[in-house]
Amino acid sequence: MNGVQYAASGGDASGSKARSRLLSLNSPRGKETLRRLLTSACRSRAVGCAVLALALGVALLGASQASAYDRPPLLERVASYFAMRPAEVRCPSLEEWIRDPIWGTTPNPSRAWGYTDMINEHIVVHPALCAGAVALSDPALPLWQRATGTLVLVHEAYHLRRWKWRRNEAKVECQAIRHFIVGAEMLGATPELANELLPSALAAHARMVTLFPEYRERHCKLPLWKLPITP
Ligand SMILES: [Zn+2]
Repeated sequence: MNGVQYAASGGDASGSKARSRLLSLNSPRGKETLRRLLTSACRSRAVGCAVLALALGVALLGASQASAYDRPPLLERVASYFAMRPAEVRCPSLEEWIRDPIWGTTPNPSRAWGYTDMINEHIVVHPALCAGAVALSDPALPLWQRATGTLVLVHEAYHLRRWKWRRNEAKVECQAIRHFIVGAEMLGATPELANELLPSALAAHARMVTLFPEYRERHCKLPLWKLPITP
């Protein structure tokens, strides 16, 4: 791999359906470039080639797209902690998220919950999940939104981190759920609130690893929810 990669969480964007969608969208010249680059990359890593296709799709399709997004300092601070380096976290508008060229243009394409662009080294999180992570202590927002926002943010931060497994969805997702409590507390949750959010995070994690087996780390040790009553 040439350090060029795209990695998503929560959807099937790293699958072959997404790959063929992007390939079909490109011009003949773009297709040819893509095919050449893929051929060399796919020889060494079957999994990597799917995500590489998406990265190149972004590079080929996305150049002319105008961008408007927020970069909440709190989210960047927390992502930087897990990435162990400065992190750019983009929270697009819903419209921008929907027309992000990585999803293709077919009606109702499947979308992930967030992704890390490994060409340009930045994270993009679904707007609703950004809103959840930013307002973690706001009881007006549903638990799933706050918990999943936190989980996705930590997940993408581990894709940004320069470590051995940054391209391995199972290892990345395992770290994300294992560090969920730390992430939630860094986003402003009390230990009690972090514990209250945990079952929703575990449910989001279970959904991900059930629907997309490449996210499942067989020996991942999950955090344990505490029954919030004493004695
Ligand atoms: Zn991922």
